[in-house]
Amino acid sequence: MTVNLKEKRELNNFLELLAFSAVKKFYPTAALKYTQVSSIENAYDFLLDCVDSGELKIAWEVKCTNDNIICARKINEVEDKNMVLNEEVMCDLCGHEFTVSTLDVYPYFELTNEYRQLVREDLKKKENRLKISMS
Ligand SMILES: [Zn+2]
Repeated sequence: MTVNLKEKRELNNFLELLAFSAVKKFYPTAALKYTQVSSIENAYDFLLDCVDSGELKIAWEVKCTNDNIICARKINEVEDKNMVLNEEVMCDLCGHEFTVSTLDVYPYFELTNEYRQLVREDLKKKENRLKISMS
């Protein structure tokens, strides 16, 4: 499944807005919150495509999985999740020790500097065009 044309446009607008903001990172769920995209899987697939094409970088957070007290403390951030899988970690908040599995890592995305710059340059070009057409 992929996003449809309208959803794709909304997601692109969302990324462009981020390029003008101070937001450093966002979770796939944010893409759902700020667009009308109905499926998290579709939004996630779109964001992964953006990693391939250079707009975004993906990275991973390791979170504490102590279910007894629902801790969810962020333990680590890595660019490649293979760097942490099967590692022994300990939560500094609740003391829970565990071996990191795929269920303990959560993806997040960052805009690449290149994309941020391109979006900002595009706006300048648009502003200049507007000036020309109004003079
Ligand atoms: Zn914990």
